[in-house]
Amino acid sequence: MTPPVLLIEDNEQNRYLATFLLEHHGHSVVSAADGAEGIALALAHSPRLVLLDIQLPGMDGYAVARTLRSHASLRHTPIVAVTSYAMVGDREKCLAAGCTGYIEKPINPATFIEEIGAYLSPSATIPPKLPPAPGSP
Ligand code: MN
Repeated sequence: MTPPVLLIEDNEQNRYLATFLLEHHGHSVVSAADGAEGIALALAHSPRLVLLDIQLPGMDGYAVARTLRSHASLRHTPIVAVTSYAMVGDREKCLAAGCTGYIEKPINPATFIEEIGAYLSPSATIPPKLPPAPGSP
């Protein structure tokens, strides 16, 4: 059986939309509303992808990513931050915390599956192309 996508997101509406889109495209989904539950589910399910909200109650997404990466079984699992923090520094903070990449909130239902598909490819440990940083040539 294909491992599920793990969604860690505290906002119920966002969780509902992402789950709907993923399931509609044939992915099974397990979801958590906070980091502690998400880490427990990651260890239990070995997901093929983790979609990680950064603004979470208690433990934030950066701490969740670092904790996931501290487990050998999750070291190579693609972790995609889903964040409204579109600032370059925050993107780098996501990557520094162990995320494979990030997508921006609010998620776009028309492109969401394609965006995450890039992280499900065999080369998922290589982040897909990111938009150029403001101010870069
Ligand atoms: Mn949130």
